[in-house]
Amino acid sequence: MVAKAAPRELSQIAFFNVMTGAGPAVTLYLSKLVIDELSLLVQQGPVADWRSVITTDSTLLWALAGTVGLRLLVEITSTVDILLFASLRDRVQGAVQGQVLEKIATFNDIALFESPDLLNIVQLTQKGVGRVQRLSFMLSGTLKGLLTFLPSVLLAASLDWWIPLLLIGITAPSIWVEMRHRRRSWRVETTQAETSRNMDIYGRLIRGENFAKEIRLFSLQQIMVSRWKNFYFQRFRAMAEVRKEGAIAMAFWSCISNLGAALPYVFVVVGVVEGRFTLGDIALYTGIIAQMQGGLQRLIANFGELYDVTLATKPIFQLLDLQPELTSPPQKQAADIWKSDADQTGIEVQDVVFAYPGSDVPILKGVNFQIRPNEMVALVGENGAGKTTLGKLLCRLYDPTQGSIYWNGKDYRELELRELRDRIAVVMQDYARFPTTLRENVGWGYQPSLDEDNAIQEVLEEAGVARLVKNYELGLETPLGKELEDGVDLSGGQWQRVAIARSLLRMGTADLMVFDEPTAALDPKNEQEIYDIFRNVARGRMAVVVSHRLALAKMADRIVVLEHGGVIEEGSHDELMALDGVYADMFTRQASSYV
Ligand code: ADP
Repeated sequence: MVAKAAPRELSQIAFFNVMTGAGPAVTLYLSKLVIDELSLLVQQGPVADWRSVITTDSTLLWALAGTVGLRLLVEITSTVDILLFASLRDRVQGAVQGQVLEKIATFNDIALFESPDLLNIVQLTQKGVGRVQRLSFMLSGTLKGLLTFLPSVLLAASLDWWIPLLLIGITAPSIWVEMRHRRRSWRVETTQAETSRNMDIYGRLIRGENFAKEIRLFSLQQIMVSRWKNFYFQRFRAMAEVRKEGAIAMAFWSCISNLGAALPYVFVVVGVVEGRFTLGDIALYTGIIAQMQGGLQRLIANFGELYDVTLATKPIFQLLDLQPELTSPPQKQAADIWKSDADQTGIEVQDVVFAYPGSDVPILKGVNFQIRPNEMVALVGENGAGKTTLGKLLCRLYDPTQGSIYWNGKDYRELELRELRDRIAVVMQDYARFPTTLRENVGWGYQPSLDEDNAIQEVLEEAGVARLVKNYELGLETPLGKELEDGVDLSGGQWQRVAIARSLLRMGTADLMVFDEPTAALDPKNEQEIYDIFRNVARGRMAVVVSHRLALAKMADRIVVLEHGGVIEEGSHDELMALDGVYADMFTRQASSYV
C-alpha cells in the first residue's frame, strides 16, 4: 500500500537512509583514525607550528575533513528526510482513507451502519488509518536501525566474536517483551472499541446541534459529560493496566541488557591497559557498542511499532475484504420488465420474513400483498408494526430474510440494483438534509437534471417551496444547513418539502413511489397540500405510502393493515370500514380526535 501510494517518496527515503544509516559507522571509524594519529603525535612531543602537522599528516587531514563533511551530509539528509516523510505520510494516509471511504460507499445496503459489529470495525478502521502514517516512520526507522546495526556487528565481531552475540542475546528478550506488550495493548483496544464508540456518541451529543436545545432544557449537561468521562476512564484504566505491566517488564529487561553491555566495555578498557588496543580503538569500540545497542533498540522499537501497525491495520483489511451481502447482478434486464401497463403484475411481496442483520427477532413475519400497476397502496398500523421496514425492503435497502419481492414477476435480487433504484422515488421518514446548495439538495434526486434550473424550479414549486429561491439572494446556489459558511437553515417543514422536491425530480424515471410518513413535520393545512401533490404524482404509477394518518390512507386504492409484522386486514377504505375490524376502529378513533 505504501509503495503504491507514494513510490517516489519511498525510494528517496530509502536512498537517504542508506546514507544516514551508514554515516555513524564511518564517522566512528574516522574518529578512531584521528585519535590514533593524535596519540602518535603526542608521543612525538609538542611541535612549534601546528600548521606543519596538518600539511604533513595527510591521514589526520582527511579524517578531519571527512568527519566534518559527513556530519554536514547527515544533517542535510535528515532535514530533507523530514520533508519527504511529511509528504509520504500524507500520501499514504490519503490513499488508505480514500480506499476505506470508497469501500464504505460501495455498500449497497445499510447494514454496515446498523450492526454494532460492523460499526466497531469501522471505528477501529479509523484508528488504523491514523496509525498507517506511522508505518512510513517505522519503515525508515527499521531500515536505519538495520544499517547502523549491521556494520557495527561486523566491527564488534572484529573485536571479539562473542561481543555481537552477547549484545544480541541480551536484547532478544526485550523484543519478545515489546511484542507481547503491543499485542496486549491492541487486544485492549479491540475490546474497548465499543467504549470508544460510546465516547464518540456522547461527544457528539455534547457538541451536536441536534441535541443542544433539549440537553439544556432538560439540564442533561452533567449526565452527558459524566457519561463521556466514565467511558473515557474505563478505556484509560484498561490501557493503564497494560501499560504498567509493559513498562515494568521492559524496564527490567533494559537493565539486564545494559548490564550485559558493560562487559565488552570492560574488556576493551583492560585491552588498552594491557597494550592490545590503542586509544583510538577504545573510541571506536565504545562507539560501536553504543551504536550496536542503539541500532538494536531502534530495531526493537520499530519492530514493536510495526507489529502494532499490523494489528491496527487489520480492521482496514477486514473492511476492505468485507463483501456486501446485498449484491447486484451485473446485467441489465430487458426493457419490458419495467413496463407498468395493466397486464403486468406490478410488485408482489411474497411470504416475506425479515429480521434486521445481526438480530434474530423477525420484524416481518410472512408478509403478503401486491401493488398492481397504477395502484396506490397505503401501509397503516400502530407504531412498530413494521411499516417503515417494509418500505425499506421495497427500496431494496435490505433483502428479505425469507420470501421474495417481485417486480413484474422478476425477483428483486435478479434486477440490476442501480436500474431498480432508478425506478423508485422515495421520501424517507428520516430524509437527508445534505449540507450543500439548494440546487444539489434537489438536483441529486435526478442527476441529469442537476443543471436544469427550470426542472428544479418546477419541482420546488410543486413541493410548495419555490419561495426559497426568491427569498435568498443566491437562489438555487444558497447553501443549506448551519454547518456551511453562510448556510441557511430551513424549518423542519421546509426541509421536508425540499426532500419531497428531490424525489419529485425523479418522477421522470420512477415507476414506484415510496412515501414514508411524508407529512410528519407539517401542520394539517400543509399536510393536506402534500397529500394532494402526492395523489397527483402517484397517478399513473405504483405508489406506497406509509402513514398512521388515516386521512391519507383513505385516498389510497388499497389499504394494507400491519400488526406485529403481519398483514391483518386488506382492502379499500370502504371495505375495511364495512369489515369493522382494526382499521375501522383506528379510523373512528382518529376521526373523533380531529373533531
Ligand atoms: P413502523 O414503521 O411500523 O413504526 P418500523 O418498521 O419502523 O415500524 O419498526 C418495526 C420494528 O423494527 C420496531 O420494533 C423497531 O424496533 C425495529 N427496527 C427498526 N429499525 C431497526 C434496525 N435498523 N435494526 C433493528 N431493528 C429495527
